[in-house]
Order: sequence, then C-alpha cells, then structure tokens
Amino acid sequence: EVVLETRGLGKVYRGPNGETEALRDIDVRVHRREFVCVIGPSGCGKSTLIRILAGLEKASSGQVLLDGAPVAGPGRDRGMVFQGYSLFPWLTVKRNVMFGPLMAGSSRTMAESRAREWLELVGLTKFADAFPHQLSGGMRQRVAIARALANEPRILLMDEPFGALDAQTRAKMQKHLLDIWRNVDITVLFITHDLDEAVYLADRILVLKAHPGEVQEVIEVPVPRP
Ligand code: ADP
Ligand code: ADP
Repeated sequence: EVVLETRGLGKVYRGPNGETEALRDIDVRVHRREFVCVIGPSGCGKSTLIRILAGLEKASSGQVLLDGAPVAGPGRDRGMVFQGYSLFPWLTVKRNVMFGPLMAGSSRTMAESRAREWLELVGLTKFADAFPHQLSGGMRQRVAIARALANEPRILLMDEPFGALDAQTRAKMQKHLLDIWRNVDITVLFITHDLDEAVYLADRILVLKAHPGEVQEVIEVPVPRP
C-alpha cells in the first residue's frame, strides 16, 4: 500500500540572480508503516522536498500523490515536525496537543482525552500542565511529535527534527521515535544530513546529490533495528 508518491518532481527557484534548480526528477514511493530517510549534503534540496510534500511550496514540475490522490496545499493528512519545534508558547503542553483535534471539530472532552493518550505515548503525562519553556529541548520535540500525531496524519514528515539537540539527547530521541513508530500505525519520511542517524532509523534511505538535487542512490537498510 503506497501512502505517498512523487512522480517526476522538480523545483526551480526563480529570483533576481537567476534560476536555481533545487530538485530534479524525484520519484519516491513510501509504503504504509515504512520509515524512509532522505539524506544529502547541505543545499541538495531536502527542505524543498519536504516543503513540497507538506504542500507549503509548489513544485515546478511533477506531482505529489497521497493515497493515490494529488496533493493540493497543506493538510491534516500530513503531520509536520521541524527542527525549531513550533509549539505555542502561551499554551500548556496538553493544550498544544489538543489544538489540532479542536481545530478539526473534536469536542473539548474528546480532544483532552486524545491529548492524554498521546502524551502518555511520548512519556510526558507528568508535564501536561507545564509550558513549553519549562521543558528541555528533547521533551519539547516529544510534545511536537505528540501534537503532530494527534491529528492522526497518514504520514509524519520530519525535517531534521533532532538537529538542534546535543548528541546524547539526540540518541535518546531516536530511540523514543522508533518506540513510537512501533506502537503507532504511522508512516515516516525523515530528513537528516546525518548518515548514522539515517542508518539507525530507516528501512530505506534516499541519498540525494546536490545541484540539482537528484536521487543518487537508494539504500535498503538490511539490518534489523536494535
Ligand atoms: P537542503 O535542505 O538540502 O539544505 P534546500 O532545499 O534548502 O536544501 O535548498 C536547495 C537549493 O535551493 C539550494 O541551492 C538553495 O540555495 C536553493 N533555495 C532554497 N530555497 C530557496 C528560495 N526560497 N529561493 C531561492 N533558492 C532557494
Ligand atoms: P531529554 O529528552 O531532553 O534528554 P529527558 O526526557 O531525558 O530530556 O529528561 C530526563 C528527565 O529529566 C525527565 O524525565 C524529567 O523528569 C527531568 N526533567 C528534564 N527537564 C525538566 C524540567 N524542566 N522540569 C522538571 N524535570 C525535568
């Protein structure tokens, strides 16, 4: 079952200094429950790719399909987690997680009980009433993951989510994320420039080369995860 597919995806940025071809001919298929990492050097178009998949940017050519239907603009069917976690600082952890379900029309009671479940999953039950600034960086990223999952997306799009964390926290978060991924019926597309991280997390790694970003290699990760 293919959840996300791109066909001949390309992107050319046009600016005052001419054109930059950021992506060329990207054909990707991500299957249900797969964990796919995209790696490549800085400037190879990783962020461009994920922004197009998220519907935040228009492709210059090609298509993005979600469950076989073309994607037009952003949607709750794709959950996003960024490096600079964008939690609402004026809302408690619980209310941050309730936000999506409330926007989607869930009752307050329903949104709250969903938020509790997701916070339990990421191990932050005790911090439900804390504010984001009271948490460590790793904990905030766990809230960001819970918030993205609370929308029950078809796929989680993660753009270097652990890039700003110290090495020890990053390693813990990688473990956490795999635990979550094992417990939830979720498909993940994860961007990183760190090959070790990709090898640890992924079923499949897409290696992009720079100028323009093209798929250079696809690595099937053969070893079972720890
Ligand atoms: P990565 O995330 O792999 O570092 P990006 O997607 O950010 O790569 O960038 C890919 C290429 O597109 C780079 O050459 C970058 O300079 C260029 N680029 C990215 N965003 C823009 C933009 N908004 N306007 C013009 N060029 C851009
Ligand atoms: P990180 O994911 O950033 O490494 P952890 O979740 O490993 O952080 O934090 C370890 C423990 O430290 C947490 O389970 C929590 O009990 C405690 N802790 C971290 N930050 C705070 C905080 N701001 N207030 C209270 N306890 C905290």
